[in-house]
Amino acid sequence: MPEINVLVVEDEEAIREMLTLVLEQSGFTVSSATDAQMATPMLEGKKPDLILLDWMLPGISGVDWARRLKKGESHGDIPIILVTARGEEEDKVRGLDVGADDYITKPFSPRELIARIRAVLRRTGKLDKGGKLELGGVTLDTEQHRVTVEETELAVSPTEFRLLEFFLTHPGRVYSRTQLLDQVWGRSTYIEERTVDVHIRRLRKILAEHQRENLIQTVRGFGYRFSESL
Ligand code: CA
Repeated sequence: MPEINVLVVEDEEAIREMLTLVLEQSGFTVSSATDAQMATPMLEGKKPDLILLDWMLPGISGVDWARRLKKGESHGDIPIILVTARGEEEDKVRGLDVGADDYITKPFSPRELIARIRAVLRRTGKLDKGGKLELGGVTLDTEQHRVTVEETELAVSPTEFRLLEFFLTHPGRVYSRTQLLDQVWGRSTYIEERTVDVHIRRLRKILAEHQRENLIQTVRGFGYRFSESL
C-alpha cells in the first residue's frame, strides 16, 4: 500500500487515540487534531488523503467544517468520512447534503471503519482498485470485478456488484431503499425505489444457488441489511 495519510479530528482523547491506533495498525499514517481550528493549518503542506471527522466538536462543528472544505477550492477534493452518534445526528446527516463522502455511526468496529476508509479511498482513486472484501463466505475482488463463493464465480451485473460492494463495506446496518439508491445508484439519477427490490431479488436468487440468500435480510417497514447473523 502506498503511504496514505489520514487526519483524525476528534475532541475526545480516548476515541482519538483508539482511532489512531486502529488506523496505524492497518498501515495508515495518522495525524490528529482536537478541533477544526487546530486541523485547518494541518491541511497545508502535506495534504491528508482522507479526513475522519467527528460531528460533535467544540467550536466549528464537523458538519460545518466539512461543508466549508467541500465548497473551498483548495481542499474540496480531500475525501471526508463524518463520524456521528446514533440517533439525532445520524438522522440529520442522512437528510443533509454536507458533501461528506461517507459517514459512520458510533459505535463501529475497527473492521467496519477500515472497510469504509478503503472503499472511499478506492472510489476517489487514492487507493489502487486492488483488494478483496469478504463477508459470510462471499468474496468480492474489487480489482477484477469478480464475486465468488467457494471459488465459484457468481454472474452479477455491474449494478449488483456495486450493491454487494456497498453491503460488504456497510455490514450489519439497515438501509432504506432511498439510502441504497443514493449510495449505489447515485443521487443524480432518478430511479424508482422498486428498482432496488428488483436487484435485491436477483442478488438473493444468485446467492440462493450457494445457500447464501439469508445474508440479505429484509427489515420490514425500513429496508435491507447485509449480515451474517439472523
Ligand atoms: Ca466529539
